[in-house]
Amino acid sequence: MSVLIVEDDARIASFLGKGLKAEGYATLTAGDGDEAIVLGEAAGEGLDLVLLDLGLPGTDGRTVLRVFRERYPALPVIILTARDDLEAKIQGLDAGAADYVTKPFHFEELLARIRATLRARDQSSSSVLTVGDLRLDLLTKVAWRAGRRIDLAPREWAVLELLMRHPHQVLSRAQILDRVWEYDFDPGSNIVDVYVGYLRRKLNSPGSPPLLQTVRGAGYRLVPPEAAGEG
Ligand code: CA
Repeated sequence: MSVLIVEDDARIASFLGKGLKAEGYATLTAGDGDEAIVLGEAAGEGLDLVLLDLGLPGTDGRTVLRVFRERYPALPVIILTARDDLEAKIQGLDAGAADYVTKPFHFEELLARIRATLRARDQSSSSVLTVGDLRLDLLTKVAWRAGRRIDLAPREWAVLELLMRHPHQVLSRAQILDRVWEYDFDPGSNIVDVYVGYLRRKLNSPGSPPLLQTVRGAGYRLVPPEAAGEG
């Protein structure tokens, strides 16, 4: 689990970083809002959670929250700030924050809130499909592989979503045609093979094993890398 800490108070940032590492989290730290946005771009979908201070130099926390909600709607943000007035809390939650913790806080309570937030994210998995290091965000219609953004045409998206909803399962050309093109296509058409070819080129990346397998005479299937050798 990877947590981005956005905090301009170096003492608090260091305390949070050490505490979270001791609990097994990987951490990144940004000292201001601009750095947070840059780190967010670099880490892409590799991040699991953001701890966000609202009072930041430069780009303020509220703007960072808005940018993160737009770009990474599935990424939960917990606001961590000294502003304990009700209005600031309501604004933060309305702007899409998953939770709100007021400084000073007990570290154990923060940990419990992080765990609860990550559980809630996993349970609302209907908005994100994951197979191995490949992720489809169904809300933004963006695919990610190992943190790299992949732009897909609508039919490519539909074929990939179908395969990701049935990992390990072989889907025949006829099944894919029927579900994605939604009308009777000439069964001799090679359009499915053409689109699988497009997808392969977009999904393959150096260092990452191929995910999309051809099962000769049967069709295609998507297999996460750790299971790819099991046939
Ligand atoms: Ca601050």
